[in-house]
Amino acid sequence: MRIVRFGRGSWGVVEGEIVRVTRGPAGPFTGKRIPLAEVRLLPPAKPTKIVCVGRNYRKHAQEMGEEVPSEPGLFLKAPNALAAPGATIPYPSFTRALHYEGELAVVIGRRMRAVPEEEAFSYVLGYTCALDLTARDVQKTDLQWIRAKSADHFCPLGPWIETDVDPSNLRLRTFVNGQIRQDARTSTMIFSIPFLLAYISAFMTLEPGDVVLTGTPEGVGELRPGDEVAVEIEGIGRLSVRIAPPL
Ligand code: MG
Repeated sequence: MRIVRFGRGSWGVVEGEIVRVTRGPAGPFTGKRIPLAEVRLLPPAKPTKIVCVGRNYRKHAQEMGEEVPSEPGLFLKAPNALAAPGATIPYPSFTRALHYEGELAVVIGRRMRAVPEEEAFSYVLGYTCALDLTARDVQKTDLQWIRAKSADHFCPLGPWIETDVDPSNLRLRTFVNGQIRQDARTSTMIFSIPFLLAYISAFMTLEPGDVVLTGTPEGVGELRPGDEVAVEIEGIGRLSVRIAPPL
């Protein structure tokens, strides 16, 4: 099932080129049908927080000149950071190094508190594509990463939540202006999705709709005004946004 949010906050399920409108995420159908091409998609989740993992792919840790971690390195994005599929994102005035990081995102389906690794998958609603936009220069100079990681529009998410996919070995690719920049499999994560969910839920309650970004593979790099950046994950779909062209 592919769950979308659209318009002014409606929910639906995509079937082929049609959106069947539902009451709430994965709720009962209302009977209304709208062509997918006619809806304006929104981020397909309404999280209370977005929990992100840094350095979860060995080769990315190496390209950043960092050691492979023995424990997940977590940080947060706040919901203000969400951006919709197809959004045009202004190039922030506070940075000169806006970077893309293509990531697999996990959307939580029910309240999760101190859940063991073996049960973690049963709390997941599904998976979607995310961009962990990062102001790389201020990430290195600010005391915390709030500005570097959680500025407005720094978390494009979508296009939908895919509920019927095994996330453990999917091809993830990031494209800038159609050129491939990242190409890796989720099987090369250092910490698995169930491990991460158990690790996080041991100290922080995850609510339905909360999102966990599972880290980016190697190949991160800069975006310039006017660039189109897309994350495509096998079995899920393609999320594309544009950085606003120079004025
Ligand atoms: Mg990241």
